[in-house]
Amino acid sequence: MPDQPSPTPQPTAGPRPARTVPHAMPIVAMVLVVVLLGAFLWLLQRNERDEEALALIKDALWVEQNLHFQLASDEDKLERLAEALGRSEVDMRQFATMARLVVNTNPAIERLLWLDAQGHATLAEPPLSDGGEAAENPTRTDAFRIARSSGLRAYGAPYRIDATDHGFDVAFPLHRDGVFVGMLVGVFSFEQMLTHHVPWWFAQRYQLEVVDAAGTVLGAKSRMAVPGSMAGPAPDPARSHVIPFDPPGHGVTLVATAYPSDSNLVRTILVAAIFALTGSALWSLWSLRRHIAGRLRAEEALRTEHAFRKAMEDSLTVGMRARDLEGRITYVNPAFCRMVGLSAAELVGCGPPMPYWLPDELERAEAAFADVLAGRAPEIGLEMRFRRANGERFDALIYEAPLIDANGRQTGWMGSVLDITERKRSEDLARQQQERLQQTSRLITMGEMASTLAHELNQPLSAIASYCTGSLNRLRSGRFDTDEVAAALEKLAAQAKRAGLVVRRIHDFVRKREPNIAPCSLAQVLEDCVGLTGADAARLGVRVELDAPADLPAVTGDRILLQQLVLNLMRNGIEAMARTPRADRRLTVTVRVEDGVMLTAIRDRGCGVTPDVADRLFSPFFTTKREGMGMGLNICRSIVEHHHGRLWFEPAVVGADGAAGGSRFLFTLPIHAHAAEAAE
Ligand code: ADP
Repeated sequence: MPDQPSPTPQPTAGPRPARTVPHAMPIVAMVLVVVLLGAFLWLLQRNERDEEALALIKDALWVEQNLHFQLASDEDKLERLAEALGRSEVDMRQFATMARLVVNTNPAIERLLWLDAQGHATLAEPPLSDGGEAAENPTRTDAFRIARSSGLRAYGAPYRIDATDHGFDVAFPLHRDGVFVGMLVGVFSFEQMLTHHVPWWFAQRYQLEVVDAAGTVLGAKSRMAVPGSMAGPAPDPARSHVIPFDPPGHGVTLVATAYPSDSNLVRTILVAAIFALTGSALWSLWSLRRHIAGRLRAEEALRTEHAFRKAMEDSLTVGMRARDLEGRITYVNPAFCRMVGLSAAELVGCGPPMPYWLPDELERAEAAFADVLAGRAPEIGLEMRFRRANGERFDALIYEAPLIDANGRQTGWMGSVLDITERKRSEDLARQQQERLQQTSRLITMGEMASTLAHELNQPLSAIASYCTGSLNRLRSGRFDTDEVAAALEKLAAQAKRAGLVVRRIHDFVRKREPNIAPCSLAQVLEDCVGLTGADAARLGVRVELDAPADLPAVTGDRILLQQLVLNLMRNGIEAMARTPRADRRLTVTVRVEDGVMLTAIRDRGCGVTPDVADRLFSPFFTTKREGMGMGLNICRSIVEHHHGRLWFEPAVVGADGAAGGSRFLFTLPIHAHAAEAAE
């Protein structure tokens, strides 16, 4: 079954459940997740920082120890050299060789100096650029002084040893046989110490700097930027550890600063992704919430709309009935249920024959049903008789229309059903009354015409009587000519026929009968009317002229009613000429086909219609005549309208045909369909 408008469910009454809590729940849960995630990440970060700080301290201590170990090992070598220098006479050449060996094998030692007891440089390896430099170095002088007075090695304050490097002196006093003979000074380079004694892995993780008390960087070891690649991230100053570097002392410190770890970057990306995902989840929750709010609003609007439609549907007095394309009922409204006395449940799903069809009109109902399904339902509606569940019959007027769904597809048929029983009953009553009135009016007309008709009948009857007497006399005398008697009898028969015709016309005219709309000859009708009024007209000296073309087509109508119509108009015309000079009393009846209809005009030369009379001419019981009833024109109009024609009057143009004024009463009648087709 195609999708049909199924009866929509009733709107649920009562308070709606509170939606605030279920809606807030996911948001609260989401926020909690975000908060917990944040707390977890913060803890993780803090742990990691603690671990890194610990590692930094451990590594820094380790490197400081390593430097001290290297420094101590270098000092041991210098100590031994100093002892050697104090033990015996060492000539310059020997010292130079030993010094070169020490300098070359210990990269941290930049230079070795042999100073005499006054502090003047005896020898330097590698040689000094200017001879007096060593003595003028104030830090070295201090170290010299301390070493000499203490007899122990002494460390000088850091100083700039060349354009790029800083270093410090370690002074070893030389004693020979307990006498101070000079000083061995080793110049240590910070840069070289760091370069050679700090391992690569340390430099990879930390930047190591040697800083003096004033904050001047004396030497540093950091990541080597690979040529052609981007330099790594800068060290994080917040994560550094400072260890006093003593010896040499003098406020020199080692500062190890950690580089941000690579894993941090990955983690940052991960965290960012998690937060982005959480954000998008929150956003989708929010949009879902908005969507739900929109839906609820739409549902509310739909509910109101449904309630309105239901109220409208229930208050309809027109029966509505939807059928699918196969003709099964898919929907009925309460009015239709009331009409047929069946419930919606009993009707929905029903197919032909429908329970409300009349058993004796099944064929007609089925034909009409087939017409609807074939899309041939009459636009002006279809009248049918149905029965209610209690057996009562009723007249229904049905309008069928295609049922189109939202996609523009036809899904069935929608019928509106009107119970027109009452209307039909009153129409029938009105029609019966009208017929009775017409009948009465015809009887009255006949009554009025009785004396003239009696006179008209009198003529043939007296002629018949005289022909009969004459013929009898001839027969009785025994002297008769057969031909003569036959001729008299023929005349008698003709007169009898004439009398019969008059009687037939009167009989036809006043007979009580059902109207019979059929093709009929208007010319014949007019002729009959001329015949019926002939006597009256003759009595009043009115000439009746009939102008009807021989090939006049038939009209659709009831012959007797049309006769009544024409007779009324003709009699009115004749009566209107009562004061017209006898010579001008002419009544002209003209028939023509004009604009596809039959137009009949009855023109008199009477008194005409004054404007105040014209306004009320067609009103019932309006008359200006003493014995008049005033129903003639009113009946004429209803007859013409019953025949789908039009009746009106025009004042006749004075002098147009050389005669006095008068009136023209005109009416149109539809030409019978076959005749009209033939004419085309
Ligand atoms: P009735 O003939 O009984 O008076 P009608 O309805 O036929 O009733 O006519 C109503 C009135 O219309 C008449 O009384 C008359 O005054 C006026 N009338 C009708 N036909 C003509 C006519 N041909 N010429 C002038 N007056 C007319």
